[in-house]
Amino acid sequence: MSDNHTKEIRSKNMSHIRSTNSKPEEIVRKYLFSKGLRYRKNVRNLPGCPDIVLSKYRVIIFVNGCFWHHHNCPRFVWPSSNVEYWKNKIDHNVERDKKNKELLLAQGWRVITIWECELKKKVREQCLEKLYQEIVELN
Ligand SMILES: [Zn+2]
Repeated sequence: MSDNHTKEIRSKNMSHIRSTNSKPEEIVRKYLFSKGLRYRKNVRNLPGCPDIVLSKYRVIIFVNGCFWHHHNCPRFVWPSSNVEYWKNKIDHNVERDKKNKELLLAQGWRVITIWECELKKKVREQCLEKLYQEIVELN
């Protein structure tokens, strides 16, 4: 077997590993794509650099980690050390999220937030179906 060949197999394996450990925003993107929706991702010229932008529907989706964006759910637990540091950091994130959302709403976007915990295997399908309905039906 040539070196090139083994490299190719290796990179295929690697991409398989990556795709099975999808990041939350990738899960949402893949689903929307499979439903025939087209989007832009990580759009830097919009407030908050949204993860997913569906221009046709004027919809913006943020896929938020429960810890970093302080979701009111069991996944969010304040760290037990450096309390002050984390409090400042997380509160700052929440404040920034709020500001970005206001700016986007003022520009006529609908803003939908999907939380990491809503993408757990057990509840994922339900969450994604609801998201899809929200995107296409309210348009
Ligand atoms: Zn959560």
